[in-house]
Formats: sequence, structure tokens, C-alpha cells
Amino acid sequence: MYQRKNNYSIHAIPVLKDNIIWIWTDGSEAVVIDPAISQPVKMWLKQNNLKLTAVLQTHHHSDHIGGTQELLMDWPEAEVVASKADLKRIPFQTISVKNGTEFVLMRQPLIVIDVPGHTNAHVAYYVPYTNRMSPKPSLFCGDALFGAGCGRLFEGSAETMFKSLGKLKQLPESTQIYCAHEYTVANLRWAHEIYPDNELISKRLTSTIKKRAEGLLSLPSSLEEEKKTNLFIRAKTIEEFKRLRLHKDNW
Ligand SMILES: [Zn+2]
Repeated sequence: MYQRKNNYSIHAIPVLKDNIIWIWTDGSEAVVIDPAISQPVKMWLKQNNLKLTAVLQTHHHSDHIGGTQELLMDWPEAEVVASKADLKRIPFQTISVKNGTEFVLMRQPLIVIDVPGHTNAHVAYYVPYTNRMSPKPSLFCGDALFGAGCGRLFEGSAETMFKSLGKLKQLPESTQIYCAHEYTVANLRWAHEIYPDNELISKRLTSTIKKRAEGLLSLPSSLEEEKKTNLFIRAKTIEEFKRLRLHKDNW
């Protein structure tokens, strides 16, 4: 008999140069976030006897949506969730969302948060978890927020991105941050160069370098950690944010 499981966990598949594909599973179904490519995802799902329930897309860049079509060949009934504003740039959508949209996957509600800046229609997916026994709240934020960094402004202005990060700052501090690239060491080196005497940044840099040297990912981080050591999240004004973004772009 088919039994529903509630063993929620999130698995990382590092691909390409520095992308991370996240797979969120309850032990029988799986939700894949931003599959840059399909092959390693297919392999992992099949090895673990998991059914693909949905693909979440944060934005339209090819290193986030590149594997979706091939995944749908093996799991044609899987939902594809993406921004309604990007219907043209993100194909195969079955659930088209906008800021504030709530929907349910694997018996968990998800909330869509609009975070434009990197692209105009970039969204993040927040999983608050409803049950006290479940894990910490999780945020799948694509290229909006990185470990100690944030996405480059390809389509939005500094003001747009500053506002987007301001929304994410409102989430509980325990929120686990699942971003789509492993950039944390480089971001912390940059932050350390600007604030060489900041102990929290130095400490995070040292521990992250050690983690990476052991072959581990630096992610997820927590919102609490980002509030302490992410200069973009810490920026108090649009002007400060703009200056930091420009500095980092030319670093
Ligand atoms: Zn991107």
C-alpha cells in the first residue's frame, strides 16, 4: 500500500560551475528547484525511488530552467511553478504565480515572494512549515540572495533589489536560505576586504573556507547569519546598497 511519508529533507546537487539544484522531498515525492540540467536530478530521484511532483522556477535564466523539459519527459504530470509575468520566458508552466500566491506541495503550504532586481519577474518560495515537528522554515531564493551576497542587477535597479531584500528580511531569523549558486567564499572575501576588522565576517569566512575545503557546501545559511554578515542585507539605505553593488560588480 502507498504510504505517505513526512520525512522532509532537502538535498543539494551541485552542477555546472557553481549552480546548486535543490531537491525537497517528503520521502516519497520530490520538488526540484531550478534544475539547470536534468541528468543528475533524474538519477538521484530514481536511485531514491522518488516521484517528481513539481519543478519550482525562480527566474528564466537558462542555468535555472535548462533541465525542466527533460524532467517532464519522465514525469509528465509534474507541476511547473513560475512567475505569471514570465509566461513567455519560462515555458511549461502549470501553476503561474505572483507575489502572495499560496499553494500546497507535499502537504505543505508555500508562499510566493516577489523579489525583482536580478530579473524583473524573479520570485522566491517560502515554506513556513505548519507542523511543530517539521524542520525550520525554508526559503528557495534563486539568484536574489546569496550567502553573503545578492544577485547582479540585470533587469532591475538598485532601488528594486533593495526593496526585494527588505521583504526577505521580514522572514523569521531561523529561515534557512537555499540559494542557487555557491558564491559564499568570494562574497565573504570581498566583505572582509571592506571591513577587515569585522569579527563576524572574518569568522564566517574562516569557517566557510574550511567547509569548502572538506568538500561541503556553504549552504543553506540562515537569515540570522545573513543579517549579521551579508553587507547587502545590512545596507540601511538605497544609496549604501547601490555603492556596495557597484563596488562588488567591479571587484
Ligand atoms: Zn540568474
